[in-house]
Amino acid sequence: MGNTQELVIGIPRGMSFYNNYPFWYGFFTSLGIKIVLSDPTTKQTMSDGSALVVTETCLPIKIYLGHIINLLKKDVKNIFVPSLQSIAPKIYNCSKIRGLPDLVRNVIKGDFNLIEPTLDKSQKHQGLYAFLEEAVRPFGITNLEEIKKASKQGWKVYNNFLVMMRSGMSYKKALNYALQGKVFIENTSNSAPINVALVSHAYNIYDDRACMKIFDKLEKMDVKVFSSLQLTDEQMAEGIASLGQKRYWANEYEMTGTAGHYLKDNKIDGIITLNAFGCGPDSLMIESIARKAKELGKPMLSLTIDEHTGEAGFITRLEAFIDMLFRKKRSKIINKISINEYDYVPQTNICDTLFIEK
Ligand code: SF4
Repeated sequence: MGNTQELVIGIPRGMSFYNNYPFWYGFFTSLGIKIVLSDPTTKQTMSDGSALVVTETCLPIKIYLGHIINLLKKDVKNIFVPSLQSIAPKIYNCSKIRGLPDLVRNVIKGDFNLIEPTLDKSQKHQGLYAFLEEAVRPFGITNLEEIKKASKQGWKVYNNFLVMMRSGMSYKKALNYALQGKVFIENTSNSAPINVALVSHAYNIYDDRACMKIFDKLEKMDVKVFSSLQLTDEQMAEGIASLGQKRYWANEYEMTGTAGHYLKDNKIDGIITLNAFGCGPDSLMIESIARKAKELGKPMLSLTIDEHTGEAGFITRLEAFIDMLFRKKRSKIINKISINEYDYVPQTNICDTLFIEK
């Protein structure tokens, strides 16, 4: 490993970035570590990443590798690739996420240092501060009090971000305000004719290139979109239970938890699942979501993305689904079939389960 004393860290815009960046921003900047982000995903990012691994590898991993290449092009020497093994006892990440640092080390050769702290709540029963200390030790920062103080700053930015997301604000707006240290609550009273729950991982739906700007497309069709970042952990845990499942995968909250919650919500007219081609855990989870949707009579569309997904076919499927939802709703109104009152209330309690100190 080379010299990491230069207080600069490169963060790839992929995988857990979409959930955890507000925390890392508050944490690193409070310790005086400057963050360099990779550029937003482009076609080039995808092809750079795809060239490094076998075709069957899922798209988010290919994109992530492309972001590392992008950081190296910016001459960043310290690259942050946390090893997120297990986020709670017996709750594991997918093997591709667990093995990310090893994958990066093996397929990308170059003059850079991997900053790879391990979070493992199952084998090591490891606490937050041990994990954080591992993240900044390569920069010569070992003072626990300093680390705890920085952690508080990280949680502050993260919690502000969550409060805004849960008020119904768009991802980009909530992230921008949180990074500026601001908190605003969005007025969510504006209703749309159709409400849809988008069920996927944050790294699929908040990467504009990967999801082909699905939020913008749905908004143009007069559709209001709900996602996992608007739910509390308790709501998602209930969602998993309502599908008769037990949580095993770390990111199951984003799939079965979110789907289980919105399937019971009368205001939600339909469910769209978006998964990456080649994702084993998601294909299992989508199967159980589809069964429950059928049982409850809730329309569901399953979209799969990879680096070759064409935009035209993607839009056609979305339009056909939304058109069907409009027709279904119109016919309910004409035939005076009662639609229950809107019972979804965005929560603003603070999520703190990911890195709880045990
Ligand atoms: S959960 Fe699926 S999409 Fe995510 S890294 Fe694992 S295989 Fe890829």
